[in-house]
Amino acid sequence: MIPPIADRFVAGESTATALAHAATLDDGGVNAILNLLGEHYDDRRDADADADAYIRLIADIATTDLDARLSVKPSQIGLAVGDDIFVENLVRVVDAAAEQGVFCWVDMEDHTTTDVTLDAVERVADAHPGQVGVALQANLRRTGDDLERFADVPAAVRLVKGAYDEPASVAYTRKADVNDRYRAGLDYLFANYDDGEIAVGSHDPSMIDHAKALGAEHGTDFEFQMLMGVREDAQFALATEYDVAQYVPYGGKWFQYFYRRIAERRENLLFAARAILR
Ligand code: FAD
Repeated sequence: MIPPIADRFVAGESTATALAHAATLDDGGVNAILNLLGEHYDDRRDADADADAYIRLIADIATTDLDARLSVKPSQIGLAVGDDIFVENLVRVVDAAAEQGVFCWVDMEDHTTTDVTLDAVERVADAHPGQVGVALQANLRRTGDDLERFADVPAAVRLVKGAYDEPASVAYTRKADVNDRYRAGLDYLFANYDDGEIAVGSHDPSMIDHAKALGAEHGTDFEFQMLMGVREDAQFALATEYDVAQYVPYGGKWFQYFYRRIAERRENLLFAARAILR
């Protein structure tokens, strides 16, 4: 069982608890993006098992009236085993999702995986236009080119700052530079992408304001995306005016994810310490 301090960031271990959380979000006007926790599998059986679990999740979502989506990690469905295994599993998951009208996001991992991830997403997007999206990371120097490339692909883009420690040869490493690149990425998205193809994956109030201004200027439909347990008040407040989706991790492999969330911010560390002492 997930201890009470972790359940702020993780929606339980089972599909049932994740869907129950999605239903609560739905009551507050926020959609859910469900992510079964797992990554870096080097055994094909683990990768296939998680792809199968996503296909069962799609069937479960289809029995509800929730507008819930998925987000899968490439190394969870085979990238660490072989590029072809990843592509095979992604095709299986996206085929199943598209058949049920469930939107499928693909998370972006470290820079060594960007090319193969984008090639695979382009392939499934061509097969199922408007049914898939991919995260692009503002901290990577290449992202301007990738944003340009994906303007012609029938897929959505979630712009994030980037969660991986990357070398300066491929990434901006100063926070101020990453923020500049994030703003520039938003500018490009709103100038070149269509309705429903832009997701603003950030908790940063200044990026959120920038996106609001661009949305008003261009009139493009877009969505804010934030993580479960992070600025949830802001999520529900934004949802009164904008489309908002919450990224909802769940599953047995919650510890590493929970640890990352509490380690990234002093306030979250204090929250965890208080909960332990209580
Ligand atoms: P930051 O610069 O980290 O924070 C700005 C401000 O936001 C802070 O000052 C604070 O006000 C608030 N804030 C941020 N984090 C917290 C927190 N934990 N608790 C409370 N307040 C906080 N990264 C990838 O590399 N690949 C992905 O596929 C990916 N997918 C993502 C999907 C979603 C929906 C989101 C929201 C993020 C995703 N990320 C992904 C992570 C992302 O790259 C950043 O590491 C993360 O979002 C923190 O950046 P930020 O834009 O929120 O701003």
